[in-house]
Amino acid sequence: MMIIMRPGAPKDQIDAVISAVEKNRLIAHPIFGLEQAIIGAVGDGHYVAKEIFEAFPGVLEVQRISKPYKLASRQFHEQDSVFPLDGFSVGGEGIAVIAGPCSVESRSQILEIAQAVREAGAHALRGGVFKPRTSPYSFQGLGEEGLEYLVEAREKTGMPIVVEVMAVSQIAMMEKYVDVFQLGARNMQNYNLLRAVGETRTPVLFKRGLSATIEEMLMASEYILSGGNKRVMLCERGIRTFETATRNTTDINAIPVLKKLTHLPVILDPSHSTGDANFVASIARAAIAAGADGLIVEVHHDPANAISDGKQSLTPEAFAKMVQQVKIIAEAVDRKLAPISHVTA
Ligand code: PEP
Ligand code: MN
Repeated sequence: MMIIMRPGAPKDQIDAVISAVEKNRLIAHPIFGLEQAIIGAVGDGHYVAKEIFEAFPGVLEVQRISKPYKLASRQFHEQDSVFPLDGFSVGGEGIAVIAGPCSVESRSQILEIAQAVREAGAHALRGGVFKPRTSPYSFQGLGEEGLEYLVEAREKTGMPIVVEVMAVSQIAMMEKYVDVFQLGARNMQNYNLLRAVGETRTPVLFKRGLSATIEEMLMASEYILSGGNKRVMLCERGIRTFETATRNTTDINAIPVLKKLTHLPVILDPSHSTGDANFVASIARAAIAAGADGLIVEVHHDPANAISDGKQSLTPEAFAKMVQQVKIIAEAVDRKLAPISHVTA
């Protein structure tokens, strides 16, 4: 339910409504606009009559949110959510580009790639240190040592770092290092992990599950949002279909559909959605044309010898070319690459 207060309603009236929400075993999520407050009352509210809240002084109207997801819905938050990361914003007019290797392999590897993607125009650096590999015998990532290298890369380039968290037990350690938690496709429905990440205030890049519907993804994002962590970016990374020509099938439809259903920023991962460096730039361009707010792209200075996902990794040169093409497409749809507000060394 959304309880819309009259413009200028005083604090004591807002507080009274919040207590009534809580007494009815719902969670209050107040949003304070310039003139008006809106209180989201979220929970299993079917049995709570909206008239209860309509009777309170200062309440203009009460609306039920018709979608099963609440905090993620456009009905709850009409405007696009825009949130600042270090040096740029996500979700506004600007397109954000996150780039880096699938896995951090060594200090020199991540420093070299970080420098190259920054020069090509990347806003943030990705790199996995705990890897969800299909085989338990494949490289599993460098763990905390990899995070130290990522932090050094951040210091040298000024780019915030985006790193996948795979388990609740990794959160406390990783929080000290990372700027954005990536939640991977395989964990989209790991509700304990989602709840735990929702308790932190670290922004999240939330990936769609391999066989998840858009509604399931939005429902799952609610586990993070309802913990009070509002900075969630949704990431389409391809879904499983009958097609075998590419690793996954990019659901381009998901971009405008998500933009209609939710206020959260929408990012596309053309690397995992195609699984092939030959197709990454085409799908990156298509995503921006379709209205995506950003991209996350795998880049490696030596794809043939990458420890993971080399086949889908762009070289720094190919990435630089892709960024230039994306810039032109962004302008064609009245967007631009997000400006970077500081540059380190
Ligand atoms: C990754 O980003 O390297 C990754 C494992 O992605 P996904 O969870 O989308 O498969
Ligand atoms: Mn990968």
